Amino acid sequence: MSDEKTLFERIIDREVPADIVHETDTTLAFRDISPQAATHVLVVPKSRYRNVAELAAADPGLLADVVGTAATVAEREGLGDGYRVVFNTGADAGQTVFHVHAHVLGGEQLGHFGRYHQ
Ligand code: 5GP
Repeated sequence: MSDEKTLFERIIDREVPADIVHETDTTLAFRDISPQAATHVLVVPKSRYRNVAELAAADPGLLADVVGTAATVAEREGLGDGYRVVFNTGADAGQTVFHVHAHVLGGEQLGHFGRYHQ
């Protein structure tokens, strides 16, 4: 893996500004710069793994921390009517930052998901 920091490591290290909504010892949650729903927060582990499968294999407890932080964010953001947690994995899914992150989406009725539509 490259020694160069990922964008999200730079946010974790406060080198790149972000609208941080929650932090734990092991995770950070901040608003997506290009929100795809009324509420769109990213949750990242402070240790870098390329995707959710690598995180699950290497450190299942840390994956549980990420999901737990997603649930805390959903509660704090008032998403009691429901929300979606998405881990894009690989190019076909549109993953652009290769530091695993959960998208927490909600705050309105969400559309269905799946095939690409223009
Ligand atoms: P992916 O496409 O890899 O699943 O998700 C990456 C997400 O990071 C995208 O939703 C994108 O909008 C978000 N993003 C990209 N650059 C920045 C940034 O500088 N700050 C924040 N807060 N989000 C970013």
